[in-house]
Amino acid sequence: MSPQQARRPGEIAVEHPQASDAWLQYIGRIHTPWQRREDCPRQGDLDGPECQIEVFQPWDQALVGLQTTTPLEVLYWLDQSRRDLVLQCPTGRDHPVGTFALRSPVRPNPMGSSVVRLIAIEGPVLRVRGLDCLDGTPLLDLKPAHSAFIRTHSGG
Ligand code: SAM
Repeated sequence: MSPQQARRPGEIAVEHPQASDAWLQYIGRIHTPWQRREDCPRQGDLDGPECQIEVFQPWDQALVGLQTTTPLEVLYWLDQSRRDLVLQCPTGRDHPVGTFALRSPVRPNPMGSSVVRLIAIEGPVLRVRGLDCLDGTPLLDLKPAHSAFIRTHSGG
């Protein structure tokens, strides 16, 4: 565990069980300008730097029908996170907060999500803005953002 992941005063860790019942596959990889966690934004900015989402075969075939006009929700695995904190002291807070009251990357199942602006689809690569993750972060899923889905499908 890196020094950055050491517990802060007031933080509480629990024993984290071995993975048991969720089987996830990485369906791609996210390429961003950030090599260190401290350089990543806390949340993505739709006007932030361009990033690329590389979708691995055979899942690139699942991009059919995706349109650049649709805001896209990206789900990814925050693979550098510790997973055992129930109470955390995020930067800027002076008392511990429960993990489920935060969007911290430190959580039992470190899944991240961002709604991004889709700029272009170039074969298996999506060019997007709005991400906040490290270069090389594994991709779990892509779906139209909820608001876009309601606009497209409500009222017939
Ligand atoms: N937007 C996502 C969400 O709300 O679910 C993630 C938010 S989380 C606060 C974003 C932070 O996670 C970044 O600022 C960085 O410190 C950290 N991070 C980014 N990529 C990571 C990775 N692959 N593993 C662990 N931590 C990561």
